[in-house]
Amino acid sequence: MEESRDLVQLSTGDMLRAAVASGSDLGRQAKDVMDAGQLMPDDLMIQMISERIERSDCGSGFILDGFPRTVPQARALDKMLTGKDLHLDAVIEVKVDEDILVERITGRYTCSKCGAGYHDKFQVPAQAGVCDACGGTDFKRRADDTEATVRTRLAAYRESTAPILPYYREKGILKTVDGMAPINKVTRQIEASLTP
Ligand code: AMP
Repeated sequence: MEESRDLVQLSTGDMLRAAVASGSDLGRQAKDVMDAGQLMPDDLMIQMISERIERSDCGSGFILDGFPRTVPQARALDKMLTGKDLHLDAVIEVKVDEDILVERITGRYTCSKCGAGYHDKFQVPAQAGVCDACGGTDFKRRADDTEATVRTRLAAYRESTAPILPYYREKGILKTVDGMAPINKVTRQIEASLTP
């Protein structure tokens, strides 16, 4: 999606995982919070995104992945964008049954070398243990993709993130996509919701 539209994808989860890997103070704090399935403090996340969207690669637009996750983050994002004379074109809600989501998340893993995504049940490599894309043989799973942590993450979503939906619905930019559909259909629905 981001390649076809010359957009950069800004994932706060990826940024936090990079901080964990770097061993910084932020990374140490993030590791405990992420492993517990909780949310990081709003002020840290707002600052992280506000610095990131200043960079020149965001000039032709960006996709925010995992941000905003709370109403205060959504309000801060609005302020940030207004200050730069920018606006959100769309907010995409991907709806998936929770038990299905747990099955999808706990079974997923990626190639350590090229990042290609796989799933224990739904997307196995043609040759067991070998990446279809690059031939790599080392794979990794996210530490927070265990069932207990996913359930806590879903509870955090219901409590703190779902309340941003009415906020964007009122602004008329919320698009809801059926995440239970096959992958190519979900992609098409997202593409369509980005087309004015
Ligand atoms: P994700 O990769 O988007 O699933 O995020 C993984 C974890 O990073 C979350 O469970 C949170 O602990 C943390 N995180 C990512 N984005 C945010 C955010 N916008 N606000 C608070 N915590 C976040």
